[in-house]
Amino acid sequence: MAAAPQPVRAAPTLARALRARVAATAKPQPQGGGGGGGGASASRRALLGLSEPELRQLALDLGQQSYRGKQLHDLLYKSRANQIQDFNYVPKAFREALLGAGWSVGRSPVHHAVTASDGTTKILLKLEDKRLIETVGIPVDDDNKGSSRLTACVSSQVGCPLRCSFCATGKGGFARNLRPHEIVEQVLAIEEVFKHRVTNVVFMGMGEPMLNLNSVLEAHRCFNKELKIGQRMMTISTVGVPNTIKMLASHKLQSTLAVSLHAPNQKLREMIVPSAKSYPLWALMDDCKNYFLETGRRVSFEYTLLAGINDEKEQAEELAQLLHTCGGGYHVNLIPYNPIEGSEYKRPYRKVVQAFVDALEARKITVSVRQTRGLDANAACGQLRNEFQKNPLLESSPSEPSLVPT
Ligand code: SF4
Repeated sequence: MAAAPQPVRAAPTLARALRARVAATAKPQPQGGGGGGGGASASRRALLGLSEPELRQLALDLGQQSYRGKQLHDLLYKSRANQIQDFNYVPKAFREALLGAGWSVGRSPVHHAVTASDGTTKILLKLEDKRLIETVGIPVDDDNKGSSRLTACVSSQVGCPLRCSFCATGKGGFARNLRPHEIVEQVLAIEEVFKHRVTNVVFMGMGEPMLNLNSVLEAHRCFNKELKIGQRMMTISTVGVPNTIKMLASHKLQSTLAVSLHAPNQKLREMIVPSAKSYPLWALMDDCKNYFLETGRRVSFEYTLLAGINDEKEQAEELAQLLHTCGGGYHVNLIPYNPIEGSEYKRPYRKVVQAFVDALEARKITVSVRQTRGLDANAACGQLRNEFQKNPLLESSPSEPSLVPT
């Protein structure tokens, strides 16, 4: 008979660090923007998002041998177990110890899903505190390579406090930051719906990722290390929050930074993105330049084209001028506006979009136009959630969810 495996003891300092990280998963993470991770969901500890060393340490702390932590890791990231009760190859006593200590897997049920004719699928997840978040799966067949990609567009907050004037999420208000596992589970939910591996992740769903940077970085780590999604396959977007691009650059990730610019000058930018008042355009461009210098990754500037507002040829020329001050590491991604209910903005005509592209290319700016996906599935960010949850700013108790009936 084989000898029972001996518990592997972590070095005391490492053990302390791992314990601190594991304990931190139970706590709200205060961030800039006033959106702590409070609410009912902060009361339980989630296994999802933890690394193998952290899970091994947790097993040791609960009186188990270290290899049980490896089993937890497999159950979470290979078998994709939804709840501790499904951990059928760990002893019942360990399952009970986990439950007794307040641990859960950290998965949320799908509340609603809608699929557009192009396969883009929006999923609403109902979090532990009954709040709803949107996540989107975008399938793309690459005919040339015979392969297919599946991009997950994940949310980082419940709602968004920044209230960009064209955005459905901004109009819906803000409730709280998401905890790391609530970001990670979005990718797992998309993989379950599509029965396909997620190949790319964009942090472009509900919320401003830089206002919840710690959770975003933890989810990014988990996607990369546990779910094996390459760093280069991930994009972190921001509308611009002072000092955070520098912070992100210091992590030297090999992921793309996407900066939502939407205007070629400060005055127009403040009209479209009210939060730009606290972050002058010159400072934002400076931070982008440094991001490229520190990481070697070019910055993608997102520019939503709003008919008659920021889509004129002169504005394309002004944009080119602005970008030339930023060195060489950038790319422009034009997004013809996708109209939302109640918005005064309109989508520009195709020929106007093309004239904008031509004006940029004539000034040697690399540019692409984002193909609109899932137009018939409430594609603009925050639209589907807004239909189901009208008052995200109100604290909703489990017995009084602020949901309209499905
Ligand atoms: S565009 Fe992004 S940052 Fe602006 S309100 Fe919408 S979710 Fe927030």
